[in-house]
Amino acid sequence: MAEIRVENLRKQFSDFVAVQDSTFTVADGEFLALLGPSGCGKTTTLRMIAGLELPTSGRIRLGGEDVTFNRASARDIAFVFQLFALYPHMNVRKNIGFPLLSQGVAKAEIRARVEETARLLRIDHLLDRSVSGLAGGDRQRVALGRAIVRRPKCFLMDEPLGTLDAEFRDVMVRELRELHNRIHATTVYVTHDQMEAMAMADKIAVMNHGVIEQFDSPREIYDRPASMYVADFIGSPPMNFLRFTSGLQKGARSVSLRGVPVGVPEVHVDRAESELALGVRPEHIRFSDASPLRGRVYGAEYLGTNQIVSVETGEGMLKARVPADLSLKTGETVGLTLDSARLALFDCASGRALPSSLYSEARHG
Ligand code: ATP
Repeated sequence: MAEIRVENLRKQFSDFVAVQDSTFTVADGEFLALLGPSGCGKTTTLRMIAGLELPTSGRIRLGGEDVTFNRASARDIAFVFQLFALYPHMNVRKNIGFPLLSQGVAKAEIRARVEETARLLRIDHLLDRSVSGLAGGDRQRVALGRAIVRRPKCFLMDEPLGTLDAEFRDVMVRELRELHNRIHATTVYVTHDQMEAMAMADKIAVMNHGVIEQFDSPREIYDRPASMYVADFIGSPPMNFLRFTSGLQKGARSVSLRGVPVGVPEVHVDRAESELALGVRPEHIRFSDASPLRGRVYGAEYLGTNQIVSVETGEGMLKARVPADLSLKTGETVGLTLDSARLALFDCASGRALPSSLYSEARHG
């Protein structure tokens, strides 16, 4: 397996920029998810790494070697597409072994590697079955087997679970991560589904209009979003934003919402009068009668283990995740307590997080 290094990668289709100056490293054995909405440049990035698309500028290194202008076939990469084509007239064994057969590998070795791969994917009992009668999940495992059997330097996957129904998807998400834990293959995985990315990846690159907004571990991305876009894209419901206009002084430990002081992590910048947003996750809001920060209950969504309550405030609508047994009436006024240690502050003009003790200084260097 090998490290993937992408440097200042850019792709332009006539005057449209699909990928802008991307720089990141996927360490040897790491699982990276490229995450973002449709059209943000995920597939284009993946296709450039694979060698299926030439970058307009920038460099791609695989295991230290510059492969930017190498053909796809010379890169030793396995690509798993959403719509994979299995050979319907071949059984599972032949489908998995096919890439080795085309490479001229000896029959005995093909047999051993196919069986080892099938055991890894827990489809060894299906080896002599025809692929045409297989269920979606098993077909996907055969497709993965065909990629794994080659023992490539890395795996590139483009929404490989996209066609599966929700139940199978959950199973395959667990299996793919388990498989990764066993074979430690350097992997780049394209998805628009935040849950897939959060559940599987070591690192996530959140993309927006061709730009990587944040490249970090799932925990960092959730707890310390670098921008309002990331904070809004990750989390269900997403992070709430309480917008207000104020100035801030370096070292401030609170902000004022309609005259009510709200404690925040220590702010590391001076900010003249500007439009700011206080970012709070739904689970970091509590209802407490004594709190001077007030809101009006707008509605509730009962989820069994907890409930999501919408509350109207002077700074906008909030969604709070509170205990299921809390009894609330629409229209009633509630006091809100925000978990000061977990609050993020954003500059609404740039959309970027303000440096504070919630974030490490280096992150904003
Ligand atoms: P999706 O999940 O919908 O594929 P994506 O994030 O993978 O989204 P890309 O497929 O990388 O997005 O496309 C990024 C942008 O580049 C899109 O606006 C797309 O229309 C454009 N694009 C991609 N390939 C080409 C091409 N060959 N010619 C012109 N524009 C292209």
